[in-house]
Amino acid sequence: GRWGFGLAGELRQAAARSPHRIAVIDDQRSLSYAQLLDRAERLARGLPVGPGDRVGLLCRNSARMIEALIGVTTLGADPVLINTGLSPNQLATVAKDQSLRALIFDDEFAPKVALVQGVEKVAEERFEELIAGAAVGPIRPPERPGRTIVLTSGTTGVPKGAQRPTPGGFRPLCSVIDRIPLRAGDRVMIAAPLFHTWGYAGLQIALALRATIVLRRKFEPAAILDDLVAHACTGMIAVPVMIQQLMELPPASRRPALRVVAVSGSALPGGLATRFMDRYGDVLYNLYGSTEASWASIATPADLRADPRTAGRPPYGTKVAVLGDDGEPVAPGEVGRLFVGNEMLFEGYTNGANRTMHEGLLATGDLGHVDADGRVYVDGREDDMIVSGGENVYPAEVEGVLADLPQVREVAVIGVPDDEYGQRLAAYLVLREGETLAPEAVREHVRHHRARFSVPRDVIFLDELPRNATGKVVARELPR
Ligand code: ATP
Repeated sequence: GRWGFGLAGELRQAAARSPHRIAVIDDQRSLSYAQLLDRAERLARGLPVGPGDRVGLLCRNSARMIEALIGVTTLGADPVLINTGLSPNQLATVAKDQSLRALIFDDEFAPKVALVQGVEKVAEERFEELIAGAAVGPIRPPERPGRTIVLTSGTTGVPKGAQRPTPGGFRPLCSVIDRIPLRAGDRVMIAAPLFHTWGYAGLQIALALRATIVLRRKFEPAAILDDLVAHACTGMIAVPVMIQQLMELPPASRRPALRVVAVSGSALPGGLATRFMDRYGDVLYNLYGSTEASWASIATPADLRADPRTAGRPPYGTKVAVLGDDGEPVAPGEVGRLFVGNEMLFEGYTNGANRTMHEGLLATGDLGHVDADGRVYVDGREDDMIVSGGENVYPAEVEGVLADLPQVREVAVIGVPDDEYGQRLAAYLVLREGETLAPEAVREHVRHHRARFSVPRDVIFLDELPRNATGKVVARELPR
């Protein structure tokens, strides 16, 4: 019917078929599918917005965030998922750019929201009042369900709104579940932020499967590990830096019974993938995707065991092409621009900006290659490529080499302007507790494994790397 396959449609079907199954467990409550639907619909009745309006969501992972998402789409209004790491000014800009009608937010963000003007503000107390006070009775399905807009994180500029497609059927999600074996009855910790495309995809999948979703407002590794055990989680949706933080903990005496740990959002260091699987078993899946492309390829544990640096293969219904500067496919093993086609490409930016397409395929903005067995490798972003003395260097590759040093916990490599070479490499390192390392030893290690022009001239030690809410290093915040 008109509810289609959107989030509201999925929740309706889940609540009809499994009303008593636990839908979501968060820091504050646990709700059955019937209760979650009831709260989302009450919110929809009370929220003073209508079809086509845009409603900002500035929330950490919680049941409230899901209720808001579903309540808003139920009205035919469009939720705009806002990165919680935005500055007050960025938030005010986004509110204006996206013509927000209303803004639903967690109380902790009240100071940030203060600058935003001309929108209906819904803090936590108001949210509960809307739910408690709403009239009962059926809700008329809107002409079209609301369409979610995800904001890019803005690591490469001002955050842009990307219109997410609503899957026209189960097929796109099935192609993912075909590779990442989540299933009905799983209990899935969605640790990646729900406002990010990967956390949001996790929510779509979990609802379609009628799984139980476990959410925590903050990612605190030790507490998360306890939760995974306490709630008997079988699945986890995370970003790579979370996996790394879990590996910093001493091996747990009680081990979570995880069957699937799926990561995406940034590069998964190969050494980390192997160490994680050695500790937790062959349960790790690496999905390469973006807000614009949804997904391009998925590495299974077997792929990662064969080569831990791979981003795997395209699932069925998805095509990946590596094109040279002439727009022609390059030979296996050769690096080119990565293009992707599938049924889940985004529908455009809300500001009308163009996306780069080639014969129906979307430019990901990444450089990469495909090996002779059809496995995809992401070598880095086009924008990040360093040209030093005329040689192309991929920072991600040098980061991978440095991450293999046992003393190194985290690493970022960038290009900085250089009078002689145009650009030179700067490496930022966070060392493990109690470790020391001389800059020359760092250079020597790279010299041993890579070409001369890949050796970082600047070696800088930091206590931590500046990261955004999805764990990506924010290059412009690195000290020069
Ligand atoms: P912005 O585009 O504003 O910087 P963002 O980086 O947060 O925002 P995303 O869509 O989340 O936007 O990022 C997608 C990019 O992240 C990909 O194009 C790729 O560069 C990188 N990426 C995502 N998953 C992987 C992966 N599994 N392996 C390597 N790189 C990945």
